[in-house]
Amino acid sequence: MDVYLGLGSNLGDRRAHLARALAMLATHGVVVVRVSPVVESPAMLPNDAPPDWNQPFLNLVAHCRTAVSPEDMLAALKQIEHALGRADRGRWAPRPIDLDILLWGRETITKEKLRVPHPGIAERAFVLTPLASLAPRLTIPGLGSRTVLELARAGGHLPLWMGIVNLTPDSFSDGGELADDASVDARVDQLAAAGAEYIDVGAESTRPGATPLTADQEWARLAPALERVFARYEGEMLRPRISIDTYHSSTARRALELGVDVINDVSGLTHPAMVDLAASSTADWVAMHNLGVPADKTRVLPADQDPTDVVERWLQERLHEWQRAGLDLGRVVFDPGVGFGKNALQSLRLLRNVQRFHRYGLRILVGHSRKSFMHHVTTAGREERDLFTVGASLKLSALGVDILRVHNVAAHAAAYRGWSHVS
Ligand code: ADP
Ligand code: MG
Repeated sequence: MDVYLGLGSNLGDRRAHLARALAMLATHGVVVVRVSPVVESPAMLPNDAPPDWNQPFLNLVAHCRTAVSPEDMLAALKQIEHALGRADRGRWAPRPIDLDILLWGRETITKEKLRVPHPGIAERAFVLTPLASLAPRLTIPGLGSRTVLELARAGGHLPLWMGIVNLTPDSFSDGGELADDASVDARVDQLAAAGAEYIDVGAESTRPGATPLTADQEWARLAPALERVFARYEGEMLRPRISIDTYHSSTARRALELGVDVINDVSGLTHPAMVDLAASSTADWVAMHNLGVPADKTRVLPADQDPTDVVERWLQERLHEWQRAGLDLGRVVFDPGVGFGKNALQSLRLLRNVQRFHRYGLRILVGHSRKSFMHHVTTAGREERDLFTVGASLKLSALGVDILRVHNVAAHAAAYRGWSHVS
């Protein structure tokens, strides 16, 4: 049976508790198939709760398979909760672990001690957001025809941060910084500790004027960094998802063999070899709209047309082709491509209208961090660019953008924590 479990923790070493609970499931006859990103959210509390109970939760969803009965599963979850030190201190008190059965295949269970689908799903952004990253197009028995992704967007979904690691000597924002292995490792650690659930590693800069690499040159830069990243995270179920930024299908294929989770294809998942590779893999695939890679400042969308209309038509054509190729659209993430074939105002118009893309049922990623569309309205300093980026990110998240690809993840996580506590 395919089962989705919700795991939460807001006491002690939250990540360690989540990881231990996942590991313990195996001893109860439960196979963990995939784990969602981890999201942080404020505790739900009654008005008369002691203020120090307001400890943010870390939450995740695990897609599992099991042959045990729902009742035995519930008993196993209670045993694991107990083993991890959960004491009965009342419903709302901070707890090292909370384990819930969210979905049991397509079944509906209405027993006194067990209700599935879990009755809170539709109102809980901290469940819907991680679930949407595993199964965006799933529907929930009893909740009509809206998909998990649609429910997440309607219920104030939570942002996921994708941190950027540039192995390029000529990248526009942190050029040269990551020339050696130690600084790449430190950057990955720093991003993961700051709360990046995705880490996007790129070897070729695609900014205007950058020098294109051959696929072999690109792989020569990427391979050692990826090998080290996977060696460090070996056996860790809660590691960040590793993404690579490439438009070479041979690079994507080699990276998938190493265990990469996401291919961030800045050429838009248009090359037939990429589409075939995507269809035959289980990885997520980011498809970015562009008018050519590397970006060319002189080639922008027609001035007399709404940029959102043009990008939307492009997406409709792509969807047609992806469906023809048998691609699972639940694995495709759409990126409108800020700055790739758009001038500053066109990029902004696309961002303001990003909700127009919801109807296609794909997750949406935006990469606006420190980009040139903000040059006219910010000073050149990185700090001010980061604050501009964070402000835009909070609004984009509220507009239903699922993943934000940003340089300064720590600033985003801190700002979002403030935003979330007043939301
Ligand atoms: P919550 O998870 O809502 O914060 P608790 O974990 O304290 O609260 O709730 C515990 C009780 O809820 C359990 O003892 C269990 O019997 C009941 N329950 C009902 N449906 C479910 C479900 N789908 N998953 C887990 N527990 C459930
Ligand atoms: Mg519970």
